[in-house]
Amino acid sequence: MKQLFWWAALGVLALLACQNAPGPAPVATQTPVATPPLDTFPAMGVDYLMGKFDPATRTDFVKIGKPYTDKTGMMLRKEAFEAFEKMWTAARNDGITLKIISSTRTFSQQKAIWEGKWSRFAQETPDPEKRALRILEYSAMPGVSRHHWGTDIDLNDLNNPSFENNGAHKSAYEWLAKHAHEYGFCQPYTPLSDPHRTGYHEEKWHWSYTPLSRPLLDQYLKTVNDSMISGFTGAETANGIRVVENYAAGINTACR
Ligand SMILES: [Zn+2]
Repeated sequence: MKQLFWWAALGVLALLACQNAPGPAPVATQTPVATPPLDTFPAMGVDYLMGKFDPATRTDFVKIGKPYTDKTGMMLRKEAFEAFEKMWTAARNDGITLKIISSTRTFSQQKAIWEGKWSRFAQETPDPEKRALRILEYSAMPGVSRHHWGTDIDLNDLNNPSFENNGAHKSAYEWLAKHAHEYGFCQPYTPLSDPHRTGYHEEKWHWSYTPLSRPLLDQYLKTVNDSMISGFTGAETANGIRVVENYAAGINTACR
């Protein structure tokens, strides 16, 4: 009952935010969209949290197509996509193009990314821990990626400079920094100089739908530990690096 109340309240707030959309731009603080108490969120289980499931078989996921992405096979949690659609439309009305270039990734998709880099970096960085740390600058270990949850997206380009100075997506980043929070999105990987940030380098393209990803991170940190990170080449480095504490938990505090 308590749970129902919070989700109904969230719905009303979302509706109000929507009705207010054409009004003056609010102050650009990272004020989060209301999130129900974390412990009222349904327990998703360790396999879900670590990406060991097929999103195509789940009714709480939706497929994403044009004009939101040019890629095939993109999926997100339904609420996250509905919020993205609203954000996409508002951005377009301001002359900004947002394209999803990566969304939900399973454990095995993340394993392919990780092991690809593990091989490519082998000659230059033979030491396993150093090699893992190098991959971890921009890529998560399988079982540790926020992309497993269906709540996180990469937008436009996987390259910080294109969101800066004379980059093609500078105005998109400025728009997102100002407005994404109005739709529930937050940039988890801000500069490492930010308070409490550890782990991955800044990613100006990675945005997270916090009404879902907040409770999922809370469940993740209560469920998963370094010794559970296994099943791919280089997984033995997870303990020494303390990947759950330093990477999964080391995000922008505004997204927590
Ligand atoms: Zn990402």
